[in-house]
Amino acid sequence: MSLTQLARTKVQELTPYQSARRIGGQGHIWLNANEAADSGQFSLNCERLNRYPECQPPQVIERYAAYAGVNPERVLVSRGGDEGIELLIRTFCEPGSDRILITSPTYGMYAISAETNGVQVVDVPLTQARQPDFDGIIARLDEVKIVFLCSPNNPTGDLVDKAGLVRLLKAAQDKALVVVDEAYIEFCPAHSQVDLLNDYNNLVIIRTLSKAFGLAGIRCGFTLASPEVIGLLLKVIAPYPVAEPVAQIAAQALSEEGLLLMRQRVEEINRLKTELTEQLQKHAQVKEVFAPNGNYLLVRFTPGSEIFARMSRAGIILRDFATRPGLADCIRITIGSRAEMDAVLDVLHKEQ
Ligand code: PMP
Repeated sequence: MSLTQLARTKVQELTPYQSARRIGGQGHIWLNANEAADSGQFSLNCERLNRYPECQPPQVIERYAAYAGVNPERVLVSRGGDEGIELLIRTFCEPGSDRILITSPTYGMYAISAETNGVQVVDVPLTQARQPDFDGIIARLDEVKIVFLCSPNNPTGDLVDKAGLVRLLKAAQDKALVVVDEAYIEFCPAHSQVDLLNDYNNLVIIRTLSKAFGLAGIRCGFTLASPEVIGLLLKVIAPYPVAEPVAQIAAQALSEEGLLLMRQRVEEINRLKTELTEQLQKHAQVKEVFAPNGNYLLVRFTPGSEIFARMSRAGIILRDFATRPGLADCIRITIGSRAEMDAVLDVLHKEQ
């Protein structure tokens, strides 16, 4: 028997995860992974690197809880929001028999984490109005352990409607967890569902420092949930998920000064996003600009493949969604720096 045959059958069928540095080609302007154009400055104290860190660094937990407006007992810090997503699946889903529910088109990691853990995926696609099909989801609650919603949704940018969410949370009580992934919520903070945590113990919210905080490189994310759910996740999480340098940088990012910087970055990105939207809407090859609630715009071009190739030739790496159902000709553009946005518009306006 070969070593490959020794591996779990499901694993043999998988392809390794492609990093953001490798999707979409080679270039010098990276607008394919919704990263920030800058990270800011941080200091590191390397004196205690001989010691294992705290499993849940208290200063990071306390500062994030204060920032999010929740009790620290409701906060778990992990290796990016992605680890939070996987941890929920590993904690609540029995491999082989349990399922999660996703609402396509949406963030890919829910399905990838399910697959790598032997958990099946039920898809209830977004409606024509690109809202979760709440009736359709409620009808399938008996089949699933976790419902993953994303608000703002990656890649379409749409927000989950609060009334619909409350209806789902009530129907799912004692049946399923409802996860609202708010990785991009800093770009439209008034739309957070965090206030519902007090009333619904089956609500879970995913957050991250990778987007508005500009820290994708440190891999730091948060899960907000009832103390009971957090307690269960803590039984399953890998030991020491947050390295000491990560904890130090996260604590600085969540200080008063760090939060101020984050809010300035958000303002600048939202301003650039509005300007880019206006320019795109005037362009003959743009058919549709999707909801502008994150640090990205999903744009339907005519034809998308030609625009993608032109950008790529100019060294601008975007994310092509053309093969996803309903997203023909759609390309996602991360809002980067002003210079990067000008580069995108230059390519678009240049004579072909
Ligand atoms: N949720 C969504 C919707 C995302 O787009 C991302 C990152 N692309 C994540 C979660 C995970 O972010 P991270 O693991 O970097 O915290």
